[in-house]
Amino acid sequence: MFNEENQVKKYLLKWYSKNARILPWRNKYRNNLPNPYFVFVSEYMLQQTTVNTVKNKFQNFVIKWPNLDKLAQINEPQILKFWSGLGYYSRARNLLKSAKIINKKFNNKIPCSYDELIDLPGVGNYTANAILGIAFNKSVMPLDANIERILVRLHAIDKPIIKVKKDLRYLADKFKSKNFSSDLIQSFMDYGSEICLPRNPKCENCSINKFCQSYKKNLQYKIPNKSKNKILKTIKYTRAYVIVNENNEILVRNRPSKGMLASMLEVPNDNWVKNKNLLSTDQIVKKLKTNLKLKGSFEYSFSHFDLETEIFYGNIKKAQLSNANWIKISTYNKSGLPTVMKKIVEIAV
Ligand code: SF4
Repeated sequence: MFNEENQVKKYLLKWYSKNARILPWRNKYRNNLPNPYFVFVSEYMLQQTTVNTVKNKFQNFVIKWPNLDKLAQINEPQILKFWSGLGYYSRARNLLKSAKIINKKFNNKIPCSYDELIDLPGVGNYTANAILGIAFNKSVMPLDANIERILVRLHAIDKPIIKVKKDLRYLADKFKSKNFSSDLIQSFMDYGSEICLPRNPKCENCSINKFCQSYKKNLQYKIPNKSKNKILKTIKYTRAYVIVNENNEILVRNRPSKGMLASMLEVPNDNWVKNKNLLSTDQIVKKLKTNLKLKGSFEYSFSHFDLETEIFYGNIKKAQLSNANWIKISTYNKSGLPTVMKKIVEIAV
């Protein structure tokens, strides 16, 4: 198998030299490797968000904050406002915390050791290895969904991925490269998103099909085995209230400084509960003198649960809440509301 692994590496590198995706964080910087700061930012953005969504956002991010020193000087509300549209705001907070640590401790240089990287907020085993491999050409093999899929197919492992994580770690280590780690890792990633696709792998055009046990046994559509991969998410319930004054402004406030969407702007909404019968009307809304109209409902998916929201609309005079915060309806999209709140407003107005 040793020889086969070397062959697979050779074929993937060759394929990558002609077919690599053009991604803004890959521009070569020094030693023919990408800019470590770009890789660092992109790895935070790519956690739970697709490459296509990240592309434009990333471009604007590095135009605004082109290096780590610049990023380390900003404050949390600035990065949270920018992050709108990407979701999972804890990543933005962690990215900024990490930038400030690197600024102080490492003189603005992204660390190139596993131990230093793994200590940074929001950096787990995968992210640390991805940065080491892609930005510094270290001989590692991070395991993302694309690489896992290629490995279980190459070896025709017909068990849910979640159950064979240890085996995959062992198999992935066999594909580490001493000299071409950065390109090889990215070639695996690109191959998984262009050729060894989740649903319809392009086996006939695959340059490594002669090494693929799933292809030989015609199992490529059954592997990865999905049977027990699905994690059923909890559903939580809330009611949200879009309250508008005579100046076409929407009532907003800041969320608590801890927990989901901490410190972000929101429209008033009830505490999120798992049992719909336990919903209790928000304190501010209770006191308002307005007729609330149900405008619709929708479900928003967070990483660990889905949030089912009924959306109500009401009008009040601004004087009813003289000390409250308001944002213009015409500019709510640029106001720093997180995506879930923007969708609520969008349905209501
Ligand atoms: S032959 Fe098909 S299943 Fe196997 S690695 Fe190639 S594309 Fe993937």
